[in-house]
Amino acid sequence: MTAARASIPLRLQSLQENAMGDDTLFHSLDLIQSGDLVRYHGSIPHAHGLYIAVPCPCSACQFLYAIAPTDTRYALIDPWGELPGPRCARRESITRSIACN
Ligand SMILES: [Zn+2]
Repeated sequence: MTAARASIPLRLQSLQENAMGDDTLFHSLDLIQSGDLVRYHGSIPHAHGLYIAVPCPCSACQFLYAIAPTDTRYALIDPWGELPGPRCARRESITRSIACN
C-alpha cells in the first residue's frame, strides 16, 4: 500500500520531466526550428555550407505554406553575413547541424 502511494508522485515527476523535454523530442524528430544552424546540401553546389534557417518570407513560399503547412521552405542566412544564402530551400536540402545537439 505504501509502495503504491509512493509510486504516484514518481510518475508525476516523470511526466513533468517529459514535458520539459519537449525541445529534446522536437530535435529527435529532426524538425527544423527557425534560427537553427543547418547544413545546406541542396541543388546549388556552390552554396553548400552552414546557415541559419528561417521560414522563407517570399510570397511563393508563404502561399505554399498556406495550402500545405507541412511544406515549409527555408531562407538560409550566412551566420557570418558574408554570403547571400539560398532562398526557398526545401526541407530535404538541409540537415540540422550536429552543433545544435
Ligand atoms: Zn521562398
